Amino acid sequence: GQAQIYLDNAPSEVKELAKTFNMMLSRLSQSWEQERQFVSNVSHELRTPLTIVHGYLQSVLRRQKNLTPAQQEALETAALEAERTIRLLQHLLDLARADSGHLHLRMEPCVLNDLVAEVVNMAEKYSDRTIKIESTTKSIEVRTDYNRLKQVLLNLIDNAVKYSEADTPVIVKLNQQGEEAIIEVCDQGCGIPLQEQSRIFERFYRIDEARDRSTGGYGLGLSIVKTFVEGMGGTVTVRSRTTTYHQTSRLNKGSVFTITLPACSLLE
Ligand code: ADP
Repeated sequence: GQAQIYLDNAPSEVKELAKTFNMMLSRLSQSWEQERQFVSNVSHELRTPLTIVHGYLQSVLRRQKNLTPAQQEALETAALEAERTIRLLQHLLDLARADSGHLHLRMEPCVLNDLVAEVVNMAEKYSDRTIKIESTTKSIEVRTDYNRLKQVLLNLIDNAVKYSEADTPVIVKLNQQGEEAIIEVCDQGCGIPLQEQSRIFERFYRIDEARDRSTGGYGLGLSIVKTFVEGMGGTVTVRSRTTTYHQTSRLNKGSVFTITLPACSLLE
C-alpha cells in the first residue's frame, strides 16, 4: 500500500525536486559568472599598471648606460617578473573570456607558412635557439585568427625550447592532408609521461614542480592553446616518450604537439 502511495505522489515530488534543482543551478551559474567577471576585472586592473611599470623598467635599462652590474641585474629581474605576471594576467583574461563565450576570434584567411615563419623568427630572437621549419607545401591556406594562432604557436615553441637541451633541434612541420592543415611542433627534450599527457591541458597543471620550477610558467599555456585552437575549429594533441624510457636512443624521444585546422582556399 505504501509503495503505491509513494508512487502516486512521485510525479509532483519529482517536479518539486526539479524546481529546487533548477533554482540551485541558476544560482550556481550566477556565481560562476560573477567569479569569471571578478577574475576578468582583477586581471584587467592589474595588467594596466604592471604594463606601465614594465615599460619604465625597460626604458631605464635601455637608456642608463652606467648602471652597476648589481643594479642591471636587479632591474632585469624586475622586468622579467613583471613580464611573467603580465603574461599570466593576459592568460587569465583570455580564459575568463572564453568561459563566458566572449573570446571573439577574428577569423580571416591567411597563408600558414607566412604565419609560421613570422612566429619562428620571433621565437628565435627570444630564445637564441635555431628553430627549423619543414613544409611539404609552399602555401597552406587556413581561415584563422592570425594573432591568436601566432600566440598558440609561440606557446608551443616556447615549451619545446624550455623543456629540451640547447643542443637539440626544435622543428615545426607543416603539412596539408585533404581538408586539414597540420602543424607539428617537435622537440627532443625530456618528454611527457603517458599518464600526464591528458592532464597537461588542464588549467594550472604542471607535471612536477621540481622539474618545472626553473622554467617559470604557471601551467596555463597549454590550456590557452587548447581553448584557442578548439575555438578555431581545430584540435590539439600530444605524442611523447620520456627520455628515461628511451635513454639509449635519440630517436623518438621528446614531444610532438600536433594542431589540426580546417584548411581553406583563399580564392573561395
Ligand atoms: P607551463 O607554463 O608551466 O609550461 P603549460 O600549460 O605550457 O605550462 O604546460 C604544462 C606542463 O606540461 C608543463 O609544466 C610541462 O611540465 C609540460 N610540458 C609542456 N610542453 C612540454 C614539452 N614540449 N616537453 C615536455 N614537457 C612539456
